[in-house]
Amino acid sequence: MRQSLAIILLHLFIVSACASAPDLQPAEALLPTATTAPSTPPEPLPSPTYQPSPTASPARVAQAALPVSDVVAEPALPSPTPTPMTVPGIIPTPTPRLPGTPPRVGLQIGHLRSNELPDEQAHLRTSTGARWNGITEAQVNEAIAVRVRDILTAAGVEVDLLPATVPPSYDADAFVAIHADGSVEGARGWKIATPWRTSAASRMLLEAVASTYGVITGLPEDRNGITINMRGYYVFNYRRHTHAIARTTPAIIVETGFLTNAADREIIVARPDLAARGIAEGILKYLNQRDPNDGAALLPPEWPILYTRVETVVRAGPSDTARALANAPADSRVFVFNQQDDWYEAMVRVGDKRFIGWVRADQTRPATPEETPSAQPAEPPATNP
Ligand SMILES: [Zn+2]
Repeated sequence: MRQSLAIILLHLFIVSACASAPDLQPAEALLPTATTAPSTPPEPLPSPTYQPSPTASPARVAQAALPVSDVVAEPALPSPTPTPMTVPGIIPTPTPRLPGTPPRVGLQIGHLRSNELPDEQAHLRTSTGARWNGITEAQVNEAIAVRVRDILTAAGVEVDLLPATVPPSYDADAFVAIHADGSVEGARGWKIATPWRTSAASRMLLEAVASTYGVITGLPEDRNGITINMRGYYVFNYRRHTHAIARTTPAIIVETGFLTNAADREIIVARPDLAARGIAEGILKYLNQRDPNDGAALLPPEWPILYTRVETVVRAGPSDTARALANAPADSRVFVFNQQDDWYEAMVRVGDKRFIGWVRADQTRPATPEETPSAQPAEPPATNP
């Protein structure tokens, strides 16, 4: 494999980058559909020996620094008046596990048999991911995923190896989507993202895998590479899709490296065992760290759909002095996924653009009946990076 890399380099081409166009289809009622049972994954590869890494140390976790544009003038701001947070009275309802039940982990091989996606995800059937010189992303993802499975299984974890189609409301102790990237601009490195609305458990899972993957693989972190497409991953979107994780399943998507970068390929293509160990040790670390009885940690925070009440500045941080990213007119839609003090971190839709940043809570209002959530998707468009 390695000796051919230099030659293959000369023939580098990309059929398609990993990131796909956002899905702009209108929201549909969440109708239970016929279950497409994910087929059993292909033949297992030789099982690697599991060697816990003593050197894995906490690494800085990637922050979602998302591309934004159009810095605009700031409007005059009224004095801050905190708005009480809206918290729906939902009780944590993780599926109870019987004592002694081994933890269950779902490993998704990104893009595998995406042509078999159910009707509700038909728009993603052509999303085959990155490609490099005849190697598909799904092949790379699979070589890593089966090795992760072998490591986890040896450690007593029950593993579901899943293709692009996941079972309805997939319920597990952790869900990890394994992907690789493609770029025409020479980007490299790994990154991990959680769903928009991140439960404490998903964040803990992210931090655990982030603390082992870079150390074990030696690959750099693509610190500013996390995209809207990663956080809006279709499997995360349990409101829109039946074939998605359950609301209480801790979940991350891992972009293991760039298929279009020779140094990254030295790991993700030539050493899938290392990439697998980087992921598997992080998952095991999470399973050891978590409190299986802490149902609240599994619940993502919920906010209603909001709109800007007045002209509002979207800022780079939760402060009136943070850099202005965009100027949203009144009645701009605000999808909140985080809160700090009197500020919401949100995706704000301005015309046909979306901005990720912070808005003051007192400059938002609930949706009117005409703006009812049933008429609009409760999540940003689902994507398949
Ligand atoms: Zn992908």
